[in-house]
Amino acid sequence: MKKSDFDRELGSCKVCPHSCGTNRLVSAKGSFCNTDAGYNISSITLHRGEEPAVNGKNGVCNIFFSHCNIQCIYCQNYQISKNSQTQLVRKYDLESVVREVVVCLKRHNTDRVGFVSPSHNLMQVIVLTEEIRKNFGDIITIYNTNAYEKPEYIRKLKGYINIFLPDFKYYYNELGLKYSKVKNYFDYASASIDEMIKIAGEPVFGENGFMQSGVIIRHLILPGEVENSLKVLHYIANTWGNAVYLSLMAQYYPVLKVKYDNLNRKITEDEYNAVVQKVFELGFENGWIQELESAEHYLPDFEKEMPFE
Ligand code: SF4
Repeated sequence: MKKSDFDRELGSCKVCPHSCGTNRLVSAKGSFCNTDAGYNISSITLHRGEEPAVNGKNGVCNIFFSHCNIQCIYCQNYQISKNSQTQLVRKYDLESVVREVVVCLKRHNTDRVGFVSPSHNLMQVIVLTEEIRKNFGDIITIYNTNAYEKPEYIRKLKGYINIFLPDFKYYYNELGLKYSKVKNYFDYASASIDEMIKIAGEPVFGENGFMQSGVIIRHLILPGEVENSLKVLHYIANTWGNAVYLSLMAQYYPVLKVKYDNLNRKITEDEYNAVVQKVFELGFENGWIQELESAEHYLPDFEKEMPFE
């Protein structure tokens, strides 16, 4: 990407649906994501906790960006995703990120690079992908997003991203506002996932059974919000059918005490069963369903060098 394009986009940032218009080249002041135009990253580490087909043989070298363009009050990565926190934001220059990623890839013998919470860093993702490819060779890139994106910016990722992992959270826009502090979540998420499918095409697997390209839609079941989950599943089945893989997640764990009682507990067996039953009724053929017992297995601690170990 030309530096002039990068500077033009971030000089008046409208990269995500907030359309703040902030000059991030100068500072993060005034932006929803509280992120300047640099490489603000909390962790670069090997991760084996993605879906089996995404992990590949040896795992994914994940870049966990600091902050987020949505602010879920129940976020399990709250240590790094809260836009008000600054403690775990490491300011890298481009060369240092690329160097660390290349070391991670070589040490763990993998060619998979994951961008986690990338939406507010979409322009940086493009530059990083170009530079890592120059310095390492061919890689499989994974865009692990909350799906609150603009389709016209997702289009810019064509040629850069192999696998999209959007987390389709809400059918009801009101829930996006209530739990994640963003407007029109469903409208943006559905349109941007549509674009991801156009870019990535039908899922492609290598001889080893690992995904090479495609879209996996994740959905996290929230306690007390079964109706939302059923609507999301209906929408996915009716709109995209088996052009996508589905990953149903049951790992919700109440890490923070919040003002909505339903979110201060795990999902119940009845809630889990109701959603799983719908997956089968709707005829999904491809994907994964997490066990109900998953809730405590996936809690990271970003104060540790290896947050997931
Ligand atoms: S990426 Fe950040 S600054 Fe840009 S529009 Fe989104 S929230 Fe605002």
